[in-house]
Amino acid sequence: MSEKQTTLVLIKPDGVRRGLVGQILARIETKGYLLDDIRMVQASEEQLATHYHELVNKPFYPGIVRYMTSGPLVALRVSGHRVIEGVRALSGATDPTTAAAGTIRGDYGYDTGSDAIENLIHSSDSPQSAEHELAVWF
Ligand code: UDP
Ligand code: MG
Repeated sequence: MSEKQTTLVLIKPDGVRRGLVGQILARIETKGYLLDDIRMVQASEEQLATHYHELVNKPFYPGIVRYMTSGPLVALRVSGHRVIEGVRALSGATDPTTAAAGTIRGDYGYDTGSDAIENLIHSSDSPQSAEHELAVWF
């Protein structure tokens, strides 16, 4: 049965800075997912606190804010059958040092050792998260 979903993807500031927007977008489009909307955004602390509401009390949260405000990011609205788990699979594990080769984080991600894990891409992990996060960026 068709299960059309919509998800939020962020190409994080390291991805923009390193000129990887095209290659990351190509992975998503080549897989077959549809790009519904795209915008470049300089994230505010308010947007990040809403987007990362589950992490605001973690000790590494200030590092996330520094990382995610270090330059513009690119927000994508992407849709397709089972796109939420599909883009998570394309993205790979959180830690780019050990993320599987063949994934976006595994192939392009480079952890600089800064206080936040720099890993190029965010994607929603459930339909509820997608709805919440899409409202932050679009
Ligand atoms: N993060 C971090 N340190 C940690 C855990 C997470 O800097 O110990 C950052 C990292 O950039 C990650 C984001 O916070 O992508 C969100 O964390 P989550 O555990 O939800 O990972 P994701 O879903 O992005 O794989
Ligand atoms: Mg997450």
